[in-house]
Amino acid sequence: MLESKLLRTRGDMPSRWHAEKLAVVEAGREIARKGLVAGTAGNVSLRVGSPIDELVAITRSGKQYDRLSEDDILIISFDADVVEGDHTPSIESMMHIACYRARADVRAVVHTHSIYASALAVARLELPPMIDEMIVHLGGEVRVAAYGFPSSEELAASVAAAIADRNATLMANHGVVGVGKDMREALMVCELVERCAQIYVMARAIGQVHQLPADVIETEQELYKMAHRQEAD
Ligand SMILES: [Zn+2]
Repeated sequence: MLESKLLRTRGDMPSRWHAEKLAVVEAGREIARKGLVAGTAGNVSLRVGSPIDELVAITRSGKQYDRLSEDDILIISFDADVVEGDHTPSIESMMHIACYRARADVRAVVHTHSIYASALAVARLELPPMIDEMIVHLGGEVRVAAYGFPSSEELAASVAAAIADRNATLMANHGVVGVGKDMREALMVCELVERCAQIYVMARAIGQVHQLPADVIETEQELYKMAHRQEAD
């Protein structure tokens, strides 16, 4: 008891969400390391507790991703109120929350500004269903969510609508949002979108882009649906 009192006095009391915060730190460092964001752009979050708890661990605003530490991760409510942490949460907090509200099965959200995917978002070109992994892991083609000013409710609503039946969306004139049942999946989704965007741009440069056969898409979408069935179904 004395020991815990001393820890609290020193401000060293480990957070109840220590492990979740570390998972967000590691994911933030990974998107920087992989070149999916530059500087302070992009943001990462993880649902903590049960869906009923309605709490999210999210990166703070304006921090270099390669220098993230546990103190840079805040716990916020679904109303974007800070439950734990001393900094300002990401300006895109409402967008992350909108994704969790839209999909009970989503436990991690990653937003990146990767180059090729952002180029498609600027051109407002969707990624057609052309690689098997896209259907199995993303749910099919990756659409372009309607433009919304960063941090706006319009952006949060358009992204939430776009991920209702997909694990990723491009954001018009902005970047990418990837979601997953855990952080590993959300990161994989963002990487896959970027890789497919590169393939798409190169394929268009050298020839025609052919989509997968319709029956293959249908079969693979069944696999996606089985893996991402919401608890409410
Ligand atoms: Zn952004």
